[in-house]
Amino acid sequence: MAQHFDYICIGGGSGGIGSANRAAMRGANVALIEATHLGGTCVNVGCVPKKAMWHGAQVAEAIKLYAPDYGFDVELKSFSWSKLVESREAYIGRIHQGYNKYLASNGVTVINGFAKFVDSNTVEVNGEHYSADHILIAVGGRPIIPNIPGAEYGIDSNGFFELTEQPKRVAVVGAGYIAVEIAGVLHALGTETHLFVRRHAPLRNFDNMLVETLVEVMKKEGPTLHTECSPKEVVKESDGSLTIHFENGHSQNVDEVIWAIGRTPTTDAINVAAAGVEVNESGYVKVDEYQNTTAKNVYAVGDIIENGIELTPVAVKAGRLLSERLFNPEMPNAKMDYDLVPTVVFSHPPIGTIGLTEQEAINQYGEENIKVYSSTFAAMYTAVTQHRQPCAMKLVCAGSDEKVVGLHGIGFTVDEMIQGFAVAMKMGATKADFDAVVAIHPTGSEEFVTMT
Ligand code: FAD
Ligand code: NDP
Repeated sequence: MAQHFDYICIGGGSGGIGSANRAAMRGANVALIEATHLGGTCVNVGCVPKKAMWHGAQVAEAIKLYAPDYGFDVELKSFSWSKLVESREAYIGRIHQGYNKYLASNGVTVINGFAKFVDSNTVEVNGEHYSADHILIAVGGRPIIPNIPGAEYGIDSNGFFELTEQPKRVAVVGAGYIAVEIAGVLHALGTETHLFVRRHAPLRNFDNMLVETLVEVMKKEGPTLHTECSPKEVVKESDGSLTIHFENGHSQNVDEVIWAIGRTPTTDAINVAAAGVEVNESGYVKVDEYQNTTAKNVYAVGDIIENGIELTPVAVKAGRLLSERLFNPEMPNAKMDYDLVPTVVFSHPPIGTIGLTEQEAINQYGEENIKVYSSTFAAMYTAVTQHRQPCAMKLVCAGSDEKVVGLHGIGFTVDEMIQGFAVAMKMGATKADFDAVVAIHPTGSEEFVTMT
């Protein structure tokens, strides 16, 4: 006989843990099934280790680029990659302990193993059957490797986090968040880093101002950006190094090739067909606005949903709101709002963005109904020193009331600036509302409320 629960969450990552805890807090008898480590992509091979490395990179930049002009005579004797990795992994270990404790305190049963559907209310794990009134699929994604000769010699973002020694020369291939973040970290920590994008620029779906400023900084400070480079082949040389060849004839000899060309959902291995859950041709689960799949009482959240936004807080919020809808009688219509999701790219310098790019706003509202405000300056942290770094900010406003429909920034500490502005935009703030706020001086964020 299958052990029965009110709710089973498949996947102990951002969405699964968020949903399981909230359901248990609302009184449900919940099981959380995790195949590897609690915390999923974010905690183990995503946001958390990435941010730790990024902070390490910031320390390196402070010492190398800024300390001298602040009067510090600091000699950088050595950098230990393995020490940074050790500190990072110890922190992740503490997060695992915290998750275990919190799940236990909420009474969630954690099952270790790989779940597969038997039918729409039963899963099999390690030969045991578990059934539930409601089942959530939150199995996340995995990195894509290109289908070219020698691709197997490269590593992906998971492999990057497995590196215990600093590679001397690296080719990062890709143009999204992961490629930009990893290339920036490696470069700042002292690796000779080449970023290869197959079109004219990285992050090309972001607002032009952000992309142009990022490219300007990369040209001045590194990593070395190579555009219009589509990977063709990777060859392992007799000395163990790798040569990556591109369609345009360019070649680069490096010690590591890192693929960062996107991710794919891991729904292929869980037998979704047995549950009657429809996925699209790329494996993404079809859901409605309430996270319902095509199978009754089976739901999906996070990186695996069709047309979703692949960010941790999105998975967490969608999972929690689903649990409110299912198990909190006071919130029977709770659902995730995917509009105006703020996001940060931990590039060098960081990028923060909310809502529509200028081009998207023009397409949506018409050029004559858009007003754009912008500001460019040297971040004060760097204006005091000889090593200047630009900060660029933009507000995209729509309609006669100048509702702020897009907010974009790149520069020192922009990553910590935009969360509060997202609150204002969710509330429908206009340019006049921004103007009505007294600036905080001297900060970078004051520019967002003083643009004319
Ligand atoms: P996941 O967190 O991937 O969790 C899925 C879990 O399901 C995994 O633990 C997996 O082991 C488990 N699983 C899979 N199949 C089964 C099965 N059959 N049975 C049992 N368990 C199973 N987002 C941000 O918001 N900010 C960032 O800074 C950020 N940085 C990132 C950096 C990198 C390098 C990467 C790769 C991603 C980053 N993301 C970031 C994205 C973020 O990690 C994901 O959006 C988020 O983790 C998605 O959560 P999820 O619950 O959908 O899936
Ligand atoms: P993305 O999908 O964001 O970017 C991958 C990019 O690589 C594509 O957009 C494409 O850009 C390029 N690409 C695709 N195929 C190839 C190819 N064959 N050869 C060369 N380039 C190729 O994927 P990521 O892996 O960077 O990240 C996945 C998601 O994880 C992100 O979208 C984001 O949602 C999340 N994430 C969030 C972070 C954060 O919040 N800070 C950090 C990291 C990840 P083009 O078409 O321009 O060539």
